[in-house]
This record gives sequence, C-alpha cells and structure tokens, in this order.
Amino acid sequence: MSPFDYTRAGDVAEALRLSDRPAAAYLGGGTNLIDLMRETVAQPQRLVDVTGLAGDIAHTTDGGLMIGAAVKNTALAEHRAIRSRYPMLSRAILAGASAQIRNMATVGGNLLQRTRCAYFYDTDGSRCNKRSPGSGCDAVEGFNRGHAILGASAACVATHPSDMCVALAALDAVVHLDSRDGQRSLPFVNLHRLPGDHPEIDTVLEPGELITAIELPALPVAANSTYRKVRDRASYAFALISVAAALEVTEGRISAVRIALGGVAHRPWRAAKAEAILLGQPPSEAAFRDAAIAELADARPLSDNGFKVPLATRTLVAVLTDLAGEPA
Ligand SMILES: Cc1cc2nc3c(=O)[nH]c(=O)nc-3n(C[C@H](O)[C@H](O)[C@H](O)COP(=O)(O)OP(=O)(O)OC[C@H]3O[C@@H](n4cnc5c(N)ncnc54)[C@H](O)[C@@H]3O)c2cc1C
Ligand code: SF4
Repeated sequence: MSPFDYTRAGDVAEALRLSDRPAAAYLGGGTNLIDLMRETVAQPQRLVDVTGLAGDIAHTTDGGLMIGAAVKNTALAEHRAIRSRYPMLSRAILAGASAQIRNMATVGGNLLQRTRCAYFYDTDGSRCNKRSPGSGCDAVEGFNRGHAILGASAACVATHPSDMCVALAALDAVVHLDSRDGQRSLPFVNLHRLPGDHPEIDTVLEPGELITAIELPALPVAANSTYRKVRDRASYAFALISVAAALEVTEGRISAVRIALGGVAHRPWRAAKAEAILLGQPPSEAAFRDAAIAELADARPLSDNGFKVPLATRTLVAVLTDLAGEPA
C-alpha cells in the first residue's frame, strides 16, 4: 500500500477543501476503497473521511425521503419507511455483502464501489482498460461468466456490482452532489456510464464532487415491490443477474411499473422498453415474457455468459408474476 494521509471532515465545506488535490479520495466505510488500495489498484495520497457528514434519513415535503450519503447500508435497509414503502430497496441491500460489511458501508460508497471483474484487481499481469487505460481487456476472451450482456464495448465488458443501485435505478432516485463549483442534482439512472472507449470512467461525477444525499420520490407503486438476486451461493456472492421491480394493477390493467436489472451491464440497467410494453396491459405471464424478451433483445453474450439471457428473462417473469398476485 502506498503512503497516504488521513483527515476526517467536519462538514461539507471542509470535505471539499480537503479534497482539493488530484490524488485525494473520499473515504466512506472503506470496504471497497481500502481493498483497492491494498491491491494498489487505487493509490490516493489523501483520504478525506466523510462518514461524519449527513448521516440521517428525513421525510421531504413532497412525501419522499432524503437519505444522507453517510447513512450506513444496515440503517437504510432497516428503516421503517424504507421497509414499508420501498421494500425492493431494503431487500436489495440485505442481498449484498455480509452484515458486518453492511454495518460499515455507506450509501455514498455503495454508489461508487468499483467492478468486481477479477482482471481489474489482478495487478500482476492482467490487461485491464479500466485499471490501465489502453492496455487491453483480458475478460473479452477470458473468464467472462459474470460479465455484461448489455451495453458493453470492445474496451470493457465489466458489470456494476451493487445491489442497492439496481433498486435506486428502478425507484427514480435523484443524486445530490456538492463541489467547489456549487451544488447540483441528477437522476440516479444518469450517474453511472456505459464503458464506451473510456471504461476507466465509471460515472459522470467531476473530480472532487461529493455525493451528499440520495432522494427517493414519493412513489406509491414502490410499496408493491421486490428485489431478487440470482447468484452462485447464498452469501458473499455478487449477482449473476438481479431484478428490482414494482408493479401496480388497477381495474385489471398495469397502471404503474418500474423495473431495473443488475449483473447485466456496466451500470444498473433500467428496463425502459419492458416498462413501456407492460403499461396499460392486463398482467399475464405471456405479457411479462414478451416484455422481458424485448428488453433483452439487444443482449450480446460473451463466450461464458450466454446463460444470463434466459436467466434474466425467467427471473423477470417470475418476479412480475409474484408482484401481480394472480394474473389473468
Ligand atoms: C467480501 C465483500 C462482498 C461484497 N458483496 C457485495 C454484494 O453482494 N453486493 C453489493 O452491492 N456490494 C457488495 N460488496 C461491496 C460493498 O457493498 C461496498 O464495498 C460498499 O457498499 C462500499 O461502501 P463504503 O462506504 O465502504 O465505500 P468506500 O470503500 O469507503 O468507498 C467506495 C468509493 O466511494 C467513494 N466515496 C465514498 N463516499 C463518497 C461520497 N460521499 N461522495 C463521493 N465519493 C464517495 C470513495 O472515494 C471510493 O471511491 C461486497 C464487499 C465485500 C468486501
Ligand atoms: S472487463 Fe473491464 S474491468 Fe474487466 S478486464 Fe476488461 S476492461 Fe478491465
């Protein structure tokens, strides 16, 4: 591990001032960043600890929730309003990592955790454009069972690892940011990038930009929602594929639907095509299957991960069928 200095920020202004150097990094729970530093994938010279900032969950005037970036994953998953009004988010968080890691991990850090592609972590000889731009990608023709089937590029086929982010993509969440240039907010679905020619850039954040909060809108459909994660073993495993979905049926027709997929792309994948097909339809297994097939029509599987297409299709159909109760 390279030498670094450590400072704990007392407020947002101090965090922004302390991060005013290219090799500074914000530190949440450290459950991803410290691993990356041990492997020398990340080599910040200064860590600015932001776990003392904005650690609460507050009701907004328009009926939503404002979640501070320093809120721990466990606290968010266990919050009464999250469990009752946004159950997919609680389930997604509890499907990730372990209880000990969730006790340490923060909302801000979860959003910016980096891919689990094994070649990305292997600094002893693997080629990886995300870690070392221009070096190549050993996953494209290597072991790519867990890699992307949608939105990938020749430069990178990695997936985004977070479970929580899949739910946030489905829930129309908004990310609040602060920087020395001022505050801004953006739709959560626009935070993470597809790899294109620059897989070394995961998000649209500017250098030094600080995540201060995530806002959940009042979203009645989210009360009937869930998250299902398919993985190789029941704990300590990242998603092969996952589905976050919410469904509302009024007078025999789908009146609201939100769907996002995990484990399929470089960012949480909002399933807008499937949603558009389903809206206004009577809920049925056939309609759910048609929507899933349409969403995955652009899938481009690699040598080892063709199974993800039928797996994602079946899981999406099963989740929507469960949410619909007794479809016609
Ligand atoms: C063994 C293991 C298993 C895991 N399994 C899963 C799993 O199944 N599903 C899953 O979703 N996750 C899993 N994780 C990942 C875990 O959820 C993340 O490591 C965690 O959420 C990161 O949060 P953190 O606060 O520790 O972030 P840190 O490690 O502190 O930081 C991560 C990144 O976020 C940046 N950052 C932190 N806070 C801010 C902020 N406020 N503004 C801007 N940048 C910020 C840091 O600079 C860093 O780049 C696993 C991790 C481990 C070690
Ligand atoms: S898939 Fe992306 S992260 Fe993995 S080796 Fe290729 S460039 Fe690196």
